[in-house]
Amino acid sequence: MNVLVINAGSSSLKFQLLDVDTREVYAKGNCERIGIDGSFVGYESIAVEGKQTIDAALPDHKTAMGYVIDIIDATGKDFIGIGHRVVQGGWYFPESKIVTDESLGWVREVAPLAPLHNYAEADAIEVCRELFPNKGNVVVADTSFHYAIPERAHRYALPRDVVDRLHIRKYGAHGTSHRYIWRATKQFLGDGVHKLVSCHLGSGASLCAIADGKNMDTTMGLTPLDGLIMGTRCGTIDPATVVYLQRVGGYTVDEVDTMMNKQSGLLAVSGISSDSRDIEQAADEGNEHAQMAIEMFAYRTAQLIMVMAQANEGIDTIAYSAGIGENSSRMRAEVAKKLAWMGVELDPELNAVRSDDIRLISTPKSAIKVLVVPTNEEYMIALDVAELLG
Ligand code: AMP
Repeated sequence: MNVLVINAGSSSLKFQLLDVDTREVYAKGNCERIGIDGSFVGYESIAVEGKQTIDAALPDHKTAMGYVIDIIDATGKDFIGIGHRVVQGGWYFPESKIVTDESLGWVREVAPLAPLHNYAEADAIEVCRELFPNKGNVVVADTSFHYAIPERAHRYALPRDVVDRLHIRKYGAHGTSHRYIWRATKQFLGDGVHKLVSCHLGSGASLCAIADGKNMDTTMGLTPLDGLIMGTRCGTIDPATVVYLQRVGGYTVDEVDTMMNKQSGLLAVSGISSDSRDIEQAADEGNEHAQMAIEMFAYRTAQLIMVMAQANEGIDTIAYSAGIGENSSRMRAEVAKKLAWMGVELDPELNAVRSDDIRLISTPKSAIKVLVVPTNEEYMIALDVAELLG
């Protein structure tokens, strides 16, 4: 059963055509710089050999979808429906839902919580409905999996009337990835996993506490700014810092927003880059700021793994995923060093293995199993589409 998965950003549109039964990917790519000079479509497909790039004027998402249709057509594969990654589902998507006029309206209604993403995603859904009138569309929100988090963890201790009026709560993000990580870990370890801390460590990073499949807590909050230190986001800071920056520092609301989301995190601490590869290299060359960026990232990760363990009231497994989690053996080793006091022990040889497969990297005597679990959000989205439309 084939599904087309669409992940639209404000200036990009990623797509993937895959078979949910075999997991075979027939075509995948990204339309980049939509609405900006120098736009292009990069893709791979079973219809052509190697990576392809089309220099294409992409004034809007509709034009980009035209290229996607041509690429999909060339594979000769039909598909049952389209799954759309939506960043913010708000209170309307505790699970994935088929797109109707009403549910499309919900994607826009909650957009003030994620203005950079939801409007573009809603536009992309609309384009797909227009271009494929006979195909069903499904919203798979990144927040859905977190909607089941217990109230003690998702409620903010602000006045109830304010919280209710503005729909303030912990929504989290990366929910589709954490859901996939639980599923893959369960398939891999069987009865060996009950209390998992899932670590999605990419340029955006979050942890999720999952007990027997139930989501107990996550580190991102109302927005993806909370929790871990990320590529360019500061993660958790004293909330009064926001007021202080404005009142004493003289920064405007927008400047503080930009500072905390785009100019902070690994980039700010290292002063070099938001990319952990550059930082690791600089640290090796003796750059102290780069070394501190790694130290802070690992410290906060280890600390919040413990916070998630408390949410689970126990921990038997840690799973690493996404760009840093899957690829940086150094960062995994740094975090493990900090958790050694509670019996976490990595096997250095297993930790050094590079592979696209799920794998165990802890020693047999480690108190907690540590895995690397390559995430696959597109597959998870496709599974939801197959379930709802298949
Ligand atoms: P993502 O957002 O999941 O694509 O992850 C991006 C992050 O993964 C960036 O900080 C990259 O530097 C990091 N990353 C990717 N490959 C490696 C690697 N081999 N070693 C260290 N970090 C990596």
